[in-house]
Amino acid sequence: MLDLAIIGGGPAGLTAGLYATRGGLENVVMYEKGMPGGQITQSSEVENYPGITEVVTGMELMQDWPKQCMRFGLKHDMAEVVRVSRPEGPCFKVELADGNVISAKSVIVATGSTPKRAGFKGEDDFFGRGVSTCATCDGFFYRDKEVAVIGGGDTALEEALFLANICSKVYLVHRRDEFRAAPSTVKRVEENEKIELVLNAVPEEVYGDAMGVQGLKVKKKDSGQIIDLPVPGIFVFVGNVVNNGVLKQEDGSFLCEVNDWGEIVVDLAMKTSEEGLFAAGDVRVLAPKQVVCAAGDGANAAIGAIAYVEHLKREKLC
Ligand code: FAD
Ligand code: NAP
Repeated sequence: MLDLAIIGGGPAGLTAGLYATRGGLENVVMYEKGMPGGQITQSSEVENYPGITEVVTGMELMQDWPKQCMRFGLKHDMAEVVRVSRPEGPCFKVELADGNVISAKSVIVATGSTPKRAGFKGEDDFFGRGVSTCATCDGFFYRDKEVAVIGGGDTALEEALFLANICSKVYLVHRRDEFRAAPSTVKRVEENEKIELVLNAVPEEVYGDAMGVQGLKVKKKDSGQIIDLPVPGIFVFVGNVVNNGVLKQEDGSFLCEVNDWGEIVVDLAMKTSEEGLFAAGDVRVLAPKQVVCAAGDGANAAIGAIAYVEHLKREKLC
């Protein structure tokens, strides 16, 4: 029986493991289907993690985290979790893809979220080298330069407004002439002099060289005309998949409350609506989607898990 099962080994899961084991929990296992480190390891430039004064790659940022986080007894099982449930009593059932089933007194879900790709030529090749899905992370690299934003939802328009504060010009490329975003956000975009709308247009191809992106070709849907946008940065906001699948029960319901977009609803202590179950990092509601925030969430969730497990032990409940 585990004191705590942590699902996901990104910044949130690793930090949760550090705090939980250093805070006295025993038998804490972090299930991470790949190498620990999380999605930040895909980034070629990180310069907003406090205390790291140089620009580093995501790999460099994360390389020492597992060593530190496992110093106090956290174990890593390189396994995929398929479901967390609570069939009876206070204990959780954690099912792994290899068929193993583990019991845990408490669970922290830190499985992150995955931005969707738009699917144009070169998008994957230049991802992290000029193609980005995070304006807060990468906008500053294009200060006083021109960028393109792809998408017509709330995220694309809000991030276009954010980028317009930093960049000299933002081309907002959308495949229709109507936006999904809230009317008030659309109005702010239309009124922003730095944002140029490129509507009824789909991204065709990003081009560049070993140094990075040099431009984006977009195709007008009505005329077939190709427009060349000579931008060094392209921000893709075409939707987001929240990795909440482990909470789906056999009947299709979720083990705890999730919102309309699939984000796990938590309070300020990272508690979900299910006692003893916590969520941390990009998978939770209103996540700022930053490493420092995910790490903070992980610490916060672990502190809650310690208190919860102590309560179970005191009351001899599990
Ligand atoms: P993740 O890092 O997504 O980690 C989740 C982990 O869970 C993954 O390792 C995954 O393999 C694992 N997992 C998922 N499902 C399962 C399962 N069922 N079983 C087992 N394991 C599972 N943030 C910044 O602060 N600054 C930046 O400059 C920055 N740049 C970025 C650049 C890029 C290219 C990307 C992609 C992101 C960037 N971010 C940046 C955002 C940052 O990476 C995320 O906010 C952060 O990694 C979220 O941490 P997390 O632990 O919540 O989730
Ligand atoms: P979204 O609403 O699904 O919008 C995705 C956008 O990307 C759409 O405009 C879509 O075009 C476009 N798109 C999808 N696939 C594409 C492709 N392959 N190529 C080019 N364009 C493509 O996603 P989101 O903006 O991330 O928002 C997700 C949810 O969170 C929404 O419900 C949103 O309201 C919510 N949200 C709310 C707020 C807020 O309230 N402040 C902020 C952010 C997000 P089409 O329109 O043609 O389909």
